[in-house]
Amino acid sequence: MAGRISRQFIDDLLSRADIVELVDSRVPLKKAGKNYQACCPFHNEKSPSFTVSQDKQFYHCFGCGEHGNAISFLMEFDRLDFPDAVEELASHCGMDVVREENTASPAEQRRQQQIHQQKQDDYELMLQISRFFQQQLKVAKDKVTAIDYLKGRGLSGEVVKRFGIGYISDAWDGMMNSFSRNGQANQQLVDLGMAISGEKNRPYDRFRGRIMFPIRDKRGRVIGFGGRVLGDEKPKYLNSPETRIYHKGQELYGLHEAKQANKQLKRLVVVEGYMDVVALAQHGVDYAVASLGTATTFEQLQTLFRTVPDVICCYDGDRAGRDAAWRAMENALPLIRDGFSLKFVFVPDGEDPDSLIRKQGQAAFEEFLDSAMPLSKFLFEQLMLKIDMSGHEGRAALVESFQPYLDKLPDSHLKDAILTELANSFGMGTEQFLAKYSKKTQGNEPKKAVRKSTKVTPVRLALALLVEHPHIATNLDDINVLQPLTAPGIDLLSQVLAVCKQNPEIKTPQLLEYFRGTEQGAQLAKLMCWQHHVEADAATDVFLDSIEKLLNNFVEQRAEVLLQKARAGQMTAQEKQELQAILNA
Ligand SMILES: [Zn+2]
Repeated sequence: MAGRISRQFIDDLLSRADIVELVDSRVPLKKAGKNYQACCPFHNEKSPSFTVSQDKQFYHCFGCGEHGNAISFLMEFDRLDFPDAVEELASHCGMDVVREENTASPAEQRRQQQIHQQKQDDYELMLQISRFFQQQLKVAKDKVTAIDYLKGRGLSGEVVKRFGIGYISDAWDGMMNSFSRNGQANQQLVDLGMAISGEKNRPYDRFRGRIMFPIRDKRGRVIGFGGRVLGDEKPKYLNSPETRIYHKGQELYGLHEAKQANKQLKRLVVVEGYMDVVALAQHGVDYAVASLGTATTFEQLQTLFRTVPDVICCYDGDRAGRDAAWRAMENALPLIRDGFSLKFVFVPDGEDPDSLIRKQGQAAFEEFLDSAMPLSKFLFEQLMLKIDMSGHEGRAALVESFQPYLDKLPDSHLKDAILTELANSFGMGTEQFLAKYSKKTQGNEPKKAVRKSTKVTPVRLALALLVEHPHIATNLDDINVLQPLTAPGIDLLSQVLAVCKQNPEIKTPQLLEYFRGTEQGAQLAKLMCWQHHVEADAATDVFLDSIEKLLNNFVEQRAEVLLQKARAGQMTAQEKQELQAILNA
């Protein structure tokens, strides 16, 4: 198998990519002087301390300390591992990833190969099974029942195809008959949650007599299935269990399809079931997703808010629906910054989004979505229900009950609005209330990362300038002059110099890439964030000065050591010569 992504390719990619354009495609940036700014996507804040530098091709947040180059940004923001982030950036830049010959040991290569192959096989098998289920809609003996069911739900062939919907008849081996080949294949089917291992006999089908909905990940790969019964049998819905490729708390049913259908998604609607997602798409609302358990998790909400600014939870109006909405709200609170909104709509009793849109059509349903209840209103409504306001302790209890939710909410207009509303419900002036309230919340403020000032040392300055302007290394003829030096940071300086000398064309992002994931990389990134106030045109001179200072300091220290030895009469002939040379210099 091909080895690591080639270093040369990463260099080329980083010189082609523009971090400002990349970040801006995910977090809209505003020009601020030489740099670009936004409220940090990695921590909650009201005023922007997230800075992107076009010159340095580097981002840095003064609030939380997050920093890095274009690849790091994709790793953090899109939650990708390194190879996937490189793939993503390459496709963003219209490039194809180039890989090196694999230089790992044969045993390690076999292990890598196995892991890689296993994943590929898993995705391939799930795709084949998904095709098999789709095929069953055409060939199964009882296909008419399934087709009638889908027709009865008002689904067109086009939508059934778009979502890859299929069918499996009610038998113990409908799927196994086609996919069970040997013990190893059976084990894989069990591992992927498609079959259940029997006591004595071979494994049998997990999904039987169901309409099958393939669950795809963000990249469109089939990772699991949801199955719905045709009649009233229980359970109505059956999902794949957690497997090595399917983690339900992180996936959203329909997100891939919604992204495919909309070039520019503006909002997403979260519904409870796959059938709702598909029915809404059938009627033109092609931006719905379903969380794959009852509650919408923090990870799912994070994915949602990284895709669109507006999220509407559309749940049943019953107790279970309200509870699901409440849990979604609790999970979402830390994510609601200015510019983002979470709203709630509840479908009337006895209805679900599917039945509602079939009765009313797209326009009426979208009007219904537009009427969604803002988070603040939902929060008030639910907390009021839990508190008896008639007693004289009711009002105090109300403030108490708000506290944990307000603490989770980042500083934002929404938080201000909730505080104002809370004050108003006490008939208290907002300011009076805020003064009282803010006393209570003091100490709960999230701690901002302390910006430690960096002491200027010649090593630090030389390193910082070198990372920012790697070409200045060419001004130093012989990097071996640093070899005898012992000051802290000299090793790193020598390493960086060596990389720069070997790669005369290297630029900052590529240079940082050499040290990704290492202790040295972390030190370099810290220096990147340091404001040393040396202008670009002075960089070479200041750099050479720093090197000279380092050498002088070393000579002085060395002379001091030798002189002490001389006084103690402990000098070797060689040391005498050395001292003589220093003093004559
Ligand atoms: Zn930050």
